[in-house]
Amino acid sequence: MGVVTLGDVDRQIGRGFRFLRFSRDIEAAFLRDYATSRVRLAVVWAVIGTLIYDSVYFGDATMMPDVFWPLVFVRFGIFTPFALISVLALRRWPSARNYDLLAISVAVLGVSLPMSVAVFSNSPYLFVYQNGNVAAFLFFVIALRPRFLTIMIGLVLMCAVQFTTTKLSGAFDDVVYTGIVTFYVTLAIFLAMSAYFMEHKDRLNFLHQLRGSLLHAELERKSERDELTGLLNRHSLARVRQTIWNEQGAAATVAVIMLDIDRFKLFNDVHGHIEGDDCLRAVCRCILREVAGAGETFRFGGEEILVLMSEVEREDARDMAERIRVAIEALGIRNRGLADGQVVTASLGVVLGKPNEASLEDLLRAADAALYEAKRGGRNTVSLFDGTWRGPTGAGPGEKPGELSILLAS
Ligand code: GH3
Ligand code: MG
Ligand code: MG
Repeated sequence: MGVVTLGDVDRQIGRGFRFLRFSRDIEAAFLRDYATSRVRLAVVWAVIGTLIYDSVYFGDATMMPDVFWPLVFVRFGIFTPFALISVLALRRWPSARNYDLLAISVAVLGVSLPMSVAVFSNSPYLFVYQNGNVAAFLFFVIALRPRFLTIMIGLVLMCAVQFTTTKLSGAFDDVVYTGIVTFYVTLAIFLAMSAYFMEHKDRLNFLHQLRGSLLHAELERKSERDELTGLLNRHSLARVRQTIWNEQGAAATVAVIMLDIDRFKLFNDVHGHIEGDDCLRAVCRCILREVAGAGETFRFGGEEILVLMSEVEREDARDMAERIRVAIEALGIRNRGLADGQVVTASLGVVLGKPNEASLEDLLRAADAALYEAKRGGRNTVSLFDGTWRGPTGAGPGEKPGELSILLAS
């Protein structure tokens, strides 16, 4: 099954849906939504409908005394168990098709069972009695509200039952019979027309709701991700920090890997910014491939990428950084600004700490320090922060309690 995009929905709204059918994937989504909402209501309608239907047995007693017991049998012995069992079956196998099947069979059975008994009655009230079927028509179309095609088929079948049984009863002369036929045909036409417009409106509502939720998802995705690289952005970093530092809040170790592409300014100067962007994207894709589900990857700055891994061992974090470094080099992207044959590489600084001992900022500063070491050490290397870094102000771990001394070394 395909994925529905915002463009698909807009095109569908533009094209319209005169024949009450969407393009394949939207139709599938609509039918899922239709089945869920109808099946949920089916139990309510089964109880209400059956109660009302069965209570008509008072009418059977007063208007149809000569066939009262057969009427009681078809109401309580056939219709009621059929309706209740088929609703249970629908809940077991919920689908749009099964719902429509249930709606049509309940409607046709609801009309044909008492009418096929009434055929044998000599009651003078048959005219009033058969009029009660208007309620069945309304219940089918307005309460059960199956799809339009089901409604059309159902109305035709119900009319056929109505006309055949009233004819067979022999209780009406031609004028009355014609009146009955005209009445039910008119009723069926009006109901069919309103069913068409109701479904059209339902479908339009569905498209607008779908559009709203797709738009929302798109906005959420855009606010979380960096446009150029598709990596998570700084905004998302705040959310992930919240999860790791406030919600998990545990003593589990967190690893921060800070990566910076080597000599990237030179790459831009020689190749131009467009090719620079392509290079940056390729490097980011490569990092994403390596990290996969092991952590979260953010675009931290221009060509600085941050990888956050929680609940990791020191060796795992270092191995991950090394894998990323090797994979970027293996991309083999030439940097013509450098000596012959040299390719784009990156330097990485790694640090580990526990959220209950160090803030994210502490870890970022330490990772930066490690990255600086990696650059100083000749680039294209991984450097692990070992807790000996003295901050830019010259303040060492001892002078800044709780800041860097707790990071790593262990
Ligand atoms: P070093 O090895 O010391 O990191 O050298 P460097 O040239 O990479 O130095 P630095 O990291 O300071 O340079 C960052 C450069 O990255 C500057 C800028 O031109 C480039 N850059 C940052 N963001 C983008 C971007 O989105 N697209 C492109 N094409 N270039 C970017
Ligand atoms: Mg940089
Ligand atoms: Mg750089």
